[in-house]
Amino acid sequence: MSDRKCWVDHSGIVLDSVDGFDVIHCESCGFKHIIPIPDEEEMTRIYTRQFHAEYKPLMIQHQLEDQQWYDATNKARLEAIEKQLKRKGTLLDVGSGTGFFLNEAVKQGWEAKGVEPSDMAVEYSRSKGLDVEHAFFDQECAESIGKFDVVHLWEVLEHLPDPAGMVNLCRQVLNPGGLIVIGVPNDYNKLQKILVNDMGEKPWWLTPPHHINFFDRTSLERLLRRLDFEPLRHDITFPMELFLLMGKNYLQEPELGRECHAMRMELELNLLRTGNSAVLDKLYDSLAEAGFGRHTVIMAGKKD
Ligand SMILES: [Zn+2]
Repeated sequence: MSDRKCWVDHSGIVLDSVDGFDVIHCESCGFKHIIPIPDEEEMTRIYTRQFHAEYKPLMIQHQLEDQQWYDATNKARLEAIEKQLKRKGTLLDVGSGTGFFLNEAVKQGWEAKGVEPSDMAVEYSRSKGLDVEHAFFDQECAESIGKFDVVHLWEVLEHLPDPAGMVNLCRQVLNPGGLIVIGVPNDYNKLQKILVNDMGEKPWWLTPPHHINFFDRTSLERLLRRLDFEPLRHDITFPMELFLLMGKNYLQEPELGRECHAMRMELELNLLRTGNSAVLDKLYDSLAEAGFGRHTVIMAGKKD
């Protein structure tokens, strides 16, 4: 497909079309996103109630089952952040969900706060004693929440109608020399393309209206540079598509998803708990260099 489409001031080549939405490689934004872009009101409705209740019913249960792995990987991410910042400090987790990252941050000695729109997730994290504001992180919230050394956004930007606006808000609450840490799905990657173009899978990562934007390392770094951040470090998460290529088709048989996830956790836990995190870093660095990884994770410094 090589049609071009325009919507308001967004235009570009159409990559896919699904459920009444087109994915374009937007020339004005510099990353891929769906058009039409759902409006803020629709997104508010989805994320305050519907998302957790209908789309992620098993999330907390699975997170509790996998707690050891969450804690170990969150700890590793926090250590990487500390290395970059050269100290611990204040941290804001935007879209803190059920609070697993926040909880680990507090445990590691960070002064950590969350912002989360989902009432169910807020209730759960507050029951764990975490400091979470029940709100969308918008202009009003940014003006009252205080200043931080680190702002962390995990699986947030891909869901927002205006990701650049969100990064600007984060910039606003960052102290001088502060860091933004963003993790987003690494979509339209080489392994996904092989599975779709050569092996007959449907592009399963397209789930409008929930998933609006599609980033990779290049487009995320470009966005950050445009908004006066300097990318400092790049990480990935395990390229889950490898399981599909190894015959564990969790797209066709969703019950295999947990099995694949368990294998990936085993790999990471075996390396982390034996003190071999440097080996894990090296493995993932080489995969990252080649453009692989389920998520792309960027740490970037606020330019003055
Ligand atoms: Zn655009």
